Parts: sequence; C-alpha cells; structure tokens
Amino acid sequence: MATILVTGANRGIGLAIAKAFVNRSDNVIATCRSSSPLLAQTGAEIFESVDVTNDGDIANFSKALGNREIDILINNAGVSLRSAHEEQDWPAMLHQFNVNALGPLRVTRALLGILKPGSKIAIITSFMGSIGQNSWGGQYGYRLSKAAANMAGVNLSHELKPKQIPVVLIHPGYVTTDLTGGQGNLSPDMSAKGVIDRISELTMEGTGRFMHVDGHEIPW
Ligand code: NAP
Repeated sequence: MATILVTGANRGIGLAIAKAFVNRSDNVIATCRSSSPLLAQTGAEIFESVDVTNDGDIANFSKALGNREIDILINNAGVSLRSAHEEQDWPAMLHQFNVNALGPLRVTRALLGILKPGSKIAIITSFMGSIGQNSWGGQYGYRLSKAAANMAGVNLSHELKPKQIPVVLIHPGYVTTDLTGGQGNLSPDMSAKGVIDRISELTMEGTGRFMHVDGHEIPW
C-alpha cells in the first residue's frame, strides 16, 4: 500500500486521481483549498486550506504531515485564466505563474524531507507550455506559467537524481473539467488512469521527461 499525495484534489483531474488511487487501496492524502462532497465520498484523507500560493498554508500542512513518508507526490493544482486582453493582463499572468509554476516548486520543496529514495514526483503540466508545439499562440499567462513549470520540473529532476527520486512532467490530455469549460475528449477518470500508468512506469531513466498522458514524449 503506497502513500499518494495529490494537490487540487477537490475537483477535476485531481479528484479523479485521488479516487483512482483510493480504489487501488492506496493511502491518499488529498489537499485542497476547500473540500467537496465528491472528494469526501472518496474516503481519501483530506487536508483543507492548502493554497499552493500560500507559504503559511504549505508550512502548516507540512507540519501536520510530520514524518509520514510519501511514495508519490502529484502536483496537480493549476489554473487557467481567460480574459479579453490576456496578452497584457499582468495580474492574471502573475497569478497563473504563482499557482502553476511556483506552486509545484513550493509544495515539493516543503515535502523534500519526507520523500525518500524510490519516491516519485509528477507535475501535471500542459502541452500549452511547449515552445516546440506552440503553433497558434495566445493564452500568454497559461503558456508562460506551464513553460516555467516544465523548467521547474527539469531542475528538480537534476537536483533529485542523487536522491533517486524521478520527476515527470505530464500533460493530462484535453479533459472535460471546469478548466476547459467542460470541453475535451477525455473524461477526468480516463485522464487519471493515464496519469497513474505513466507514474507507474516511471523510473530514474525517465526522469525529467515531458510526456503526453498517452505516453508519447512532447517537445519542449
Ligand atoms: P479544474 O477542474 O479547474 O481543477 C483545478 C484544481 O486546482 C482545483 O482543485 C482547484 O481548487 C485547484 N487550484 C487552483 N488554484 C489553486 C491554488 N491557488 N491552490 C490550491 N489549489 C488550487 O482543472 P483540471 O482540468 O482538473 O486541472 C488540473 C491540472 O491539469 C492543472 O494543473 C491544469 O493546468 C492541468 N491541465 C488540464 C487540462 C485539461 O484539459 N483539463 C489540460 C492540460 C493541463 P479550487 O476548487 O479551490 O479552485
């Protein structure tokens, strides 16, 4: 029985990941800002008031976990803000950077002490952060923040090699959640299954990779 930590687990892909791991009889630590009835129904252990932009929240959470070891850390919490002039909406860009790029870094750093050799880290990023696959532009804040999240993940992969902790960057597909306004071609459950498969396959050889949930590599 493994211990899995998922951020942003009250809805969407995070909720589906939490549910899937509970169904495998793993111990699931689900963090969120506020829980939801659907998350409560999963039977996961829920920690509320964990805003990934808030250092105090993360310090309190880390303290509450104490010495409990984490086998898999999934940095899932994320935000996509759309607005009429998003190409110059600096506050929205800064917020997305804070949540999507710094959030995974803050959470991971705070928990490094309870990640041991053989633990795994996933960051749910997006192909929208790929420079090589950017063929139509737009969504400045989201794209910039996810490109930065990718760099954070690669840096962590180098830093954590000596500790034998692999880090993978996973694009979850186009998933029918609030973030896409319900659009997409994958359900959260289907995406969660792929995320779990990719993490299960992850070894030190695959550390630092940027992958689609279907397993193919995405260009930086
Ligand atoms: P979602 O349904 O909108 O869920 C986003 C989750 O992130 C919610 O639990 C939300 O919590 C949490 N969150 C947002 N800001 C937070 C903060 N400051 N602190 C803590 N939690 C915060 O979106 P989703 O589609 O499941 O997205 C999950 C991840 O997949 C994100 O990283 C997203 O960028 C990525 N992704 C999604 C798609 C897609 O097609 N859906 C595609 C590519 C990548 P609240 O309820 O408190 O807001």
